[in-house]
Amino acid sequence: MASKSISILGATGSVGLSTIDLIRRSSEAFEVVALTAHSRVKELSALALEFKPKLVVIGDAAKYEELKTLLEGSNIECAAGAEAIIDAATLPSDIVMAAIVGAAGLRPTLAAVRRGATVALANKECLVCAGDLMMQEVLDHGACLLPVDSEHNAIFQVFETEHPQAVRKLTLTASGGPFLNREASTFANITPAEAVAHPNWDMGAKISVDSATLMNKGLEVIEAYHLFPVERDQIDVIVHPQSVIHSMVEYVDGSTLAQLGAPDMRIPIASCLAWPSRMPVPAEKLDLATIGSLTFQKPNYEKFRCLALARDAMAAGGAAPATLNAANEVAVAGFLAGKIGFLDISSIVEETLGRCDMKAPHSLTSVFEIDGEARRIAASLIA
Ligand code: NAD
Ligand code: MG
Repeated sequence: MASKSISILGATGSVGLSTIDLIRRSSEAFEVVALTAHSRVKELSALALEFKPKLVVIGDAAKYEELKTLLEGSNIECAAGAEAIIDAATLPSDIVMAAIVGAAGLRPTLAAVRRGATVALANKECLVCAGDLMMQEVLDHGACLLPVDSEHNAIFQVFETEHPQAVRKLTLTASGGPFLNREASTFANITPAEAVAHPNWDMGAKISVDSATLMNKGLEVIEAYHLFPVERDQIDVIVHPQSVIHSMVEYVDGSTLAQLGAPDMRIPIASCLAWPSRMPVPAEKLDLATIGSLTFQKPNYEKFRCLALARDAMAAGGAAPATLNAANEVAVAGFLAGKIGFLDISSIVEETLGRCDMKAPHSLTSVFEIDGEARRIAASLIA
């Protein structure tokens, strides 16, 4: 694999650190151009001193002086604030890892797209809230999106782009999260600590809660709709608790192609970093004989309301997906802060969708108007 330069947006997060782990192990194959984080200034500066990028950005401007002090004498340029994160995405590099969580990742990801970059896309929320705009920008600027999300990465690996008309159905697998077998009558008592304890994947807090409500799978259905040339009703979800099959593509001739692997995000991340080649990953080997059996079941849309709400928002289109995403971000933050219960997450999203009466976004400005309005409504519901 030829050497590549890379910028990592959200370097201190779960996906960011998995990316760093792979780069550290193949240091001759990568040159780090820019690193960004929101508030973990010590972790960010340690990464900067290790990888010596051209630019390091901390999103939280209040941490700028600390970052400057930590990098004193290193000759590494540092900056702070949301605009500087966009600058980091704009710097020339072969790949941008877009691993900021939430709609906060939209502008920086778009900046990378607009310079025609190859973007390894982890930030699913930007496709949920602005998928049509984003995909149009990808076309207009000749950018290349490589899906990092394990399901979409799996589909990407087995989707025969030469004949999309031969695809009958995409099936996204879902682990079912930590509450797959928990009695729905006890859902009101679920604590944040229980919700972030995912059985198979080690992830950031927000996506872990999304996995517990199955909103994550709902966001992923919308993400798949934008990434692949299929209709909404060609995207299915199946619960597969072992998280071995990461997703599947069914063709008209009855063949179904799937990608399998250990549940380790470094596998799909590596597939993006090395694309169109391959690189070694120190993940556990897939030992199917030890796993013994792979099981499947239909998702329970009554027990996991968020999945149904996301599907409805996708079907409704217009402002609904951006509204769903923003309300969910606010509700999940409220749940993690102990302000609302687990079941309030879906109620707040549903109520916000019902109250937010806005038109389909035709520009980035209107996406942020919808996002802002939904956040106001959701926050008022929490209050
Ligand atoms: P995380 O919370 O662990 O990390 C988020 C990163 O984003 C951090 O570096 C943080 O500093 C940065 N960040 C947070 N708020 C920001 C803001 N307002 N401005 C700028 N930077 C900000 O999250 P994660 O689990 O790594 O997930 C990142 C993205 O990848 C999410 O969109 C998630 O849905 C997606 N994803 C994650 C996984 C996983 O295994 N963790 C799997 C698939 C997809
Ligand atoms: Mg996923």
